[in-house]
Amino acid sequence: MKETYDVLVVGGGPGGALAAKAAAESGLSVLLVEKRPAIGAPVRCAEGIGKEALAEFIAADPKWISADIERAVLVGPDGTKFTIGGEAAGGKVGYVLDRKIFDRELIWRAAEAGAEIQVHARASAPIIIEGKLAGAVIHQHGKTYEVRAKVVIAADGVESKFAKWAGIDTTVPLWELETCAQYIVNDIDFDNKANVFHVSNEACPWGYIWIFPKGPRCANIGIGIAGTKSGEGHRAKDYLDKYLAKEFPNGKVTELIVGGVSVCKPLECTVADNLIVVGDAARLSDPITGGGIYNAMYTGNLAGNIAATAIKNGDSSKKALMIYDKTWRDGPVGTTLARNYAVKESFIKMDDKKLNSIVHSMSDMQIDDLSVRKLVLAIFKANPWLALELPHLL
Ligand code: FAD
Repeated sequence: MKETYDVLVVGGGPGGALAAKAAAESGLSVLLVEKRPAIGAPVRCAEGIGKEALAEFIAADPKWISADIERAVLVGPDGTKFTIGGEAAGGKVGYVLDRKIFDRELIWRAAEAGAEIQVHARASAPIIIEGKLAGAVIHQHGKTYEVRAKVVIAADGVESKFAKWAGIDTTVPLWELETCAQYIVNDIDFDNKANVFHVSNEACPWGYIWIFPKGPRCANIGIGIAGTKSGEGHRAKDYLDKYLAKEFPNGKVTELIVGGVSVCKPLECTVADNLIVVGDAARLSDPITGGGIYNAMYTGNLAGNIAATAIKNGDSSKKALMIYDKTWRDGPVGTTLARNYAVKESFIKMDDKKLNSIVHSMSDMQIDDLSVRKLVLAIFKANPWLALELPHLL
């Protein structure tokens, strides 16, 4: 590890990897530090991503794809199903990744571009000089290093501390922090071409249960519930155990992982002097699905490029970096997050009676893609009472 770099990236997830790669490709000296001993593990993720979204950054490779997904199935509280995709989607829809390999591939590409990667290396405090961020203190193998950088990219995920240390309010209200538990379940019969989403306020309050295929008889089965709904005897794992006992009593569990996903609005500002915040650290996971791999890759790549321009211009002040904040916020990522937040706010608290009535109305709809906008408009058409309850969504 050297004492100075142009860019220091904190976190080796998809956001950090794309940031490091973009900055290194622009000719900058880049250090990426990841606190875990291995990139990509443990996998706190159901690993689903849309095919078109993925293709923006990397060509699909069977070595890090667990399953090719042809449709998404929404299951209401009473078991009524609504399917999106299938043949009408023209072979698109998505993949379930194998992030233990995928994340390493992304990091390898950053290293190939020239970034230095250090694992088991934790950023523990910012270095502030004359009131401005100037790098970070890094702990690795019992040693402490002071690393200076012109720009720090905080890609430290949902548990992010870096942006807060640099003065940005990163608080996620407990009711907007989904607490999640997921099992890898083997030896089960299920539709291994579909990502399944169960909604029910009784079975998974303010969240959903998912079944994402990982192989022919193997799936990631998990749940997210609102932090405020979790408590002794009714934690995410308790709800999930109940579901498994009912739906897959003979499934063999080989992995249990717990984690958190923010479903709040993005940070009010994602830059400060010499700092750019990306991915989950910027609270950019989707408020409806909790999905954040694409948004992390998109903002990571953007941050790496903006950092390069700023450094070449000799100005990495907050004002100069604001173009990063404006670009993602005014583009498809920002507009989708804003719309999906409003949709989530309106639908999440509905009781099972209302959820059933909505899923029933959807069961004969013909929708050929996963666009939330199309879905919401079709739901309003089939449920005119919603227009009175949620006029702001129209
Ligand atoms: P991360 O992937 O979280 O990477 C951040 C990295 O920073 C971590 O490796 C962490 O160890 C490291 N780090 C943190 N602090 C420090 C520090 N101080 N110093 C050094 N390193 C540090 N998204 C989807 O798109 N599809 C899904 O199906 C999906 N399912 C999910 C299921 C669950 C249960 C959970 C919890 C999340 C799920 N997500 C899903 C969300 C997805 O995992 C994240 O949005 C995505 O990983 C964000 O990427 P990132 O690079 O911003 O952060």
